[in-house]
Amino acid sequence: MSVFERFGVTPVINACGPVTRLGGGVMHPEVAAAMVEASRLCCDMLDLQAAACRVIARVTGAEAGIVTSGASAAVLLGAASCLAGLDPGRMNRLPQVQGRREIVVVRSQRNMYDRALVVAGAQLIEVGIPDRYSGPGVRDADAWEIEDAIGSETAGVYYLAQKQSVPSLASVAEIAHRRGVPVLVDAAAQLPPSANLRAILAEGADLVAFSGGKAIGGPQASGILCGRADLVSSALVQMLDLDVRPGEWRAPQEFAPLAQLRGLPHHGIGRSCKAGKEEIIGLLTALERFATEGDSERRARWTLLLKEIADAGSPLSGAEISVTGPVPLLRWPTLRAEQIAAALRSGSPSIACSVVDRALQISPVSLDPEHAAIIARRLRELSVAS
Ligand SMILES: *Cc1c(COP(=O)(O)O)cnc(C)c1O
Repeated sequence: MSVFERFGVTPVINACGPVTRLGGGVMHPEVAAAMVEASRLCCDMLDLQAAACRVIARVTGAEAGIVTSGASAAVLLGAASCLAGLDPGRMNRLPQVQGRREIVVVRSQRNMYDRALVVAGAQLIEVGIPDRYSGPGVRDADAWEIEDAIGSETAGVYYLAQKQSVPSLASVAEIAHRRGVPVLVDAAAQLPPSANLRAILAEGADLVAFSGGKAIGGPQASGILCGRADLVSSALVQMLDLDVRPGEWRAPQEFAPLAQLRGLPHHGIGRSCKAGKEEIIGLLTALERFATEGDSERRARWTLLLKEIADAGSPLSGAEISVTGPVPLLRWPTLRAEQIAAALRSGSPSIACSVVDRALQISPVSLDPEHAAIIARRLRELSVAS
């Protein structure tokens, strides 16, 4: 009996990819083992985040990085660092900070995750009109409109990294930097390709948020905030427990800008973003695996898994492996896609897959190799039964 069943919960085989509502993905045994080991020991969390900083800096090229409880937490912390900088007074006052609290965002990039900025205390200033229907054609936002919105109250620019995001990150960063304002990028799901670990920073982002529980394969409640050392260091002290005697605390060299702090903040706005030692170790283990495996090897592993499902004798006529995106997907256009998905979900074992454009879609990202045969068998049974 699984631990889920012991508590009366039905396990689900997740062919949707690393979605939060299904618990993300399955961790590699090496990652899980590292977390178990971390759970049997304690350490100074500042030392552990300094170690995380070294790994993240090596993998991303960033000056600094920390592990948070997710990409959403990383966006919140990133906003908090833009708002407070290295001023412990402002840190302690968040989210009710006075002055310089505006974050500029392109209206078409607004999304339900961006409330993390507001939670930190930011006021969002929208620019551009993503005009889709009025007739003159498609308008969105131009770089000059961002420049126009930047003023003495601006704490940062927020950017949602997606293929279709406009204006380009490079042009936004160029303008923001000219006006002395940092750019915070939500790149939660922009991996793979693993090149994005470096490319988004290289394009000019000052801070980048990645999800640890998506394709990196780390614990579901983990994320990365990386970028400029002063901003990442500010984020770190707004998350850590700093109930230490004055004079007993010392900034490690990984977070050297903290040496300038005139005092320590206490249980900052980022307290709810904290990652445990188990999550930090799990994330670092997964991140090293992700960076080492490389895109082509990962793609081959995923494609093999999908082939096993497609070829296992299941009568998936018309099923094909789509290779257009960063993740290969098994797509099966069938008039009964919705019905089959519902039957898979309610069957035993329960299998969750998506229906996209009338096709049943299977993502390999959150599957264990042994799940392939189970999915193939269930698809065969369903086809025979209908
Ligand atoms: C998944 C996602 C998030 C949230 O990531 P978590 O690690 O679950 O907090 C934020 N922003 C975007 C664009 C996402 O896709």
